[in-house]
Amino acid sequence: MTDSEAWPRSAAAFAEAVKLMPGGVNSPVRAFKSVGLTPPFIQRGEGAYLYDIDGHKYIDYVSSWGPLILGHRHPEVVDALEKTLREMGTSFGAPTELENELAREITTAMPAVEMVRLVNSGTEATMSALRLARGYTGREKVVKFAGCYHGHADYFLIQAGSGALTFGIPNSPGVPATVAANTIVAPYNDLAAVEDIFQKAGEEIAAVIVEPVAGNMGCVPPLPGFLAGLRTITKEYGSLLIFDEVMTGFRVAFGGAQALYGIRPDLTCLGKIIGGGLPVGAYGGRREIMERVAPSGPIYQAGTLSGNPLAVSAGLATLKVLKKPGTYERLESLSARLEKGLKEAAAEAGVPVTFNRVGAMFTTFFNPGPVTDYATATASDTRAFAAFFRAMLRQGIYLAPSQFEAAFMSLAHREDDIDCTIAAAREAFKGIAIG
Ligand code: PMP
Repeated sequence: MTDSEAWPRSAAAFAEAVKLMPGGVNSPVRAFKSVGLTPPFIQRGEGAYLYDIDGHKYIDYVSSWGPLILGHRHPEVVDALEKTLREMGTSFGAPTELENELAREITTAMPAVEMVRLVNSGTEATMSALRLARGYTGREKVVKFAGCYHGHADYFLIQAGSGALTFGIPNSPGVPATVAANTIVAPYNDLAAVEDIFQKAGEEIAAVIVEPVAGNMGCVPPLPGFLAGLRTITKEYGSLLIFDEVMTGFRVAFGGAQALYGIRPDLTCLGKIIGGGLPVGAYGGRREIMERVAPSGPIYQAGTLSGNPLAVSAGLATLKVLKKPGTYERLESLSARLEKGLKEAAAEAGVPVTFNRVGAMFTTFFNPGPVTDYATATASDTRAFAAFFRAMLRQGIYLAPSQFEAAFMSLAHREDDIDCTIAAAREAFKGIAIG
């Protein structure tokens, strides 16, 4: 079946979109290029479901790439947005009490974040955190890990994950060589490599930035001791440890990966969930470092719409629901149910897969595994993944359209959604086994 038979309106909309926007999209992975399809155009979302303009309904495991941990249009988020819009407005460029409230929530949930600055995206959070780390330490080099994505600022687009990995452009044209020269790349989960880098250049390294659970080469958890080792090495050399928790913050635990693994980073980057589906980001950390940010310090960073009441109230409403007892247990039990079912379905069909999961983020790698870093992630059979993806989509299961992305469970998913997904996967795996 071709795209235009199953998705005639979407195919027509995409044909127009490619004339108007590069690749027809406003962010690369949305184009479905690596799975050999053109994307369904979305009409609306509700709870765990997406509806496209061709009349199909999907169980959604993308969740707007992470923010929608409560599902689409959660009533408390909708109410908060309506109330803010009716009673306040959209933006003032002046302080509001709402910002205090969100800052209080974040700093309480993450004790390592003693002060926080709100921004408008994850990219802004990581680029601002690195500027701060450089300004604070007076050093220029940064260590990142292959396959980790930290937004699209120049100095992070070196062996980056997510779309940059899917499309095989780890070093994007337009990134100056002089900028790239200050970024040192190490293999994820390889502490010996990091030690080696620090022995050679430790005194020049401003920061190590890491996804404490990698999500942008697919879900790759940290091996025991990896994060603790990074904490020890950075401390020894006077470098800062930056946890990029844009994806993991309030997802793998309310307090993020730093709570889950008991590590205290110097700086933390946030985004996604703290905006409840609206554009947001944040960076924060030790008070002494954060006080160097303008206007209390000399390191400049600003934003016209930063801390705007709509994004902040959507984030606050989301955190309020997440704080209720049992939410993370519920996410864990739904995700564990899916893990068990998918593993059994793959085994039944004789398709070798590795299922990596931390709480409500996970990836099925078409690879016998283990998958612990960029090299093992990219050894996956992307053709098998693409076939699986297409079979799932046809059965109404909306996964991330790339092997190198994480999937997300939400509180709106029900047990029968999971069972439906497992039944669809059983068919999809069978199709792959036959070839
Ligand atoms: N860091 C991580 C870990 C991310 O997953 C992402 C986006 N997926 C970003 C940074 C960039 O965030 P944004 O797309 O909001 O700029």
